[in-house]
Amino acid sequence: MAIPIPTRQLFINGEWKDPVLKKRIPVINPATEQVVGDIPAATAEDVELAVDAARKALARNKGKDWSSASGAVRAKYLRAIAAKITERKSVLAKLEAIDCGKPLDEAAWDMDDVAGCFEYYADLAEGLDAKQKAPVSLPMETFKSYVLKEPIGVVGLITPWNYPLLMAVWKVAPALAAGCTAILKPSELASVTCLELADVCREVGLPPGVLNILTGLGHEAGAPLASHPHVDKIAFTGSTATGSKIMTAAAQLVKPVSLELGGKSPIVVFEDVDLDKAAEWTIFGCFWTNGQICSATSRLLVHESIAAEFLEKLVKWIKNIKISDPLAEGCRLGPVVSGGQYEKILKFISTAKSEGAKIVCGGKRPEHLKRGFFIEPTIISDVTTSMQIWREEVFGPVLSVKTFGSEEEAIELANDTHYGLGSAVISKDLERCERLTKAFQAGIVWINCSQPCFCQAPWGGMKRSGFGRELGEWGLNNYLSVKQVTQYISDEPWGWYASPSKL
Ligand code: NAD
Repeated sequence: MAIPIPTRQLFINGEWKDPVLKKRIPVINPATEQVVGDIPAATAEDVELAVDAARKALARNKGKDWSSASGAVRAKYLRAIAAKITERKSVLAKLEAIDCGKPLDEAAWDMDDVAGCFEYYADLAEGLDAKQKAPVSLPMETFKSYVLKEPIGVVGLITPWNYPLLMAVWKVAPALAAGCTAILKPSELASVTCLELADVCREVGLPPGVLNILTGLGHEAGAPLASHPHVDKIAFTGSTATGSKIMTAAAQLVKPVSLELGGKSPIVVFEDVDLDKAAEWTIFGCFWTNGQICSATSRLLVHESIAAEFLEKLVKWIKNIKISDPLAEGCRLGPVVSGGQYEKILKFISTAKSEGAKIVCGGKRPEHLKRGFFIEPTIISDVTTSMQIWREEVFGPVLSVKTFGSEEEAIELANDTHYGLGSAVISKDLERCERLTKAFQAGIVWINCSQPCFCQAPWGGMKRSGFGRELGEWGLNNYLSVKQVTQYISDEPWGWYASPSKL
């Protein structure tokens, strides 16, 4: 059952605040196309207030502040947030499903991951205390050296709409664990649960200014955050085009960035597989989250000897996918996030047709759904490597298929892309899987599966999919600065210059 969207303000310095310009953005339920609420729209004026609050909360050298609190103290807050997320799980999951269209079961899974991510980084925050002053061995006995790990400072976190709360928390949890203070700018297309996170932070008494949440448009709220001189780092997840703009803005101030960008990931299916198991992973790899996953394995490379039979299997599995309102029981595919995305995806499909590709199944709105931004799971074959559908990220439920004859050909086709986020291989021959693992030009490899993601393991890409790694200890390191401390411990003078006292 649908629930009302709470009316919230911006979250600055631990308080709800109206945006300075009083603007708001409508929230549209993608399953019904109806306006179901609104969110505040921050502008540069609000960014100033949030950065100021974050800087004060960081307040280096003042003693009682977030950055110099022990990791154990920060961990207590992270655990309290995790507990509240779990307590509110069912409401948060419904809000997420209504806001971005993902099936309720998937949204509920996201909320478990959100709580798990806070718990995980609470552990790492505690572990950080013991890692301070790690000795560095030197080749000269007259010196000793150690390393301090310090928070980078105030960080700007800019995130997309496909996992609205989870993508935000992949950044918020490690940033806070490291001792940074933060300004989060979620996507204007799905910000509702991030504002609920603000409410959770208020409830657990997170010190004011440690986390500020500004909803709003990319060019009005994201851009001033990215270029702000008092923001020490930007961590961004989103499209390659926006990532490039953010990097350009940050470059003016030599500000560090980490970028998690788009993808066009391959899944390679060999002739020795169990067809049903391989078909289910292929479908999950592309159509989970309504096909809107950065790492979606949306290019299927299947061995030519099983291609026809495998395509038939895929079509049979797809017929069983329940396409419905995300809140309906058993929903496995909801609407895409917005009218803009809906049009864009249908345009990708019609261009593929006009370029000579064949629509094996789907390609249009499901007949039983008259409203909402629904698109059937779509398979496209007879694709050439120069076609747009093979080269560009669709970010919707569309799988393109090509066949291969040899392992070498599969590797060449898999790597024939500007992107390098995910990759998958399905085969019973584990030595072959290992060869492909080494050959894939990607930050993530799945063997005999596609998409599972654990907050303990590193996440990120290469080529135009970005750089830097989130999650695991790599995620924490994103927000830490390493300080070398070297001490002269000999009683002897240094003795490089002639001493005036000996003249
Ligand atoms: P997007 O680039 O349009 O927007 C992402 C965020 O950037 C939003 O908050 C937006 O408001 C903000 N933004 C837009 N213009 C800006 C500007 N000029 N300055 C600062 N901020 C600005 O991306 P999207 O459509 O929200 O998300 C889809 C994209 O995200 C896809 O390309 C997908 O592959 C990628 N993605 C990547 C990962 C990953 O882990 N690599 C995960 C999820 C999504």
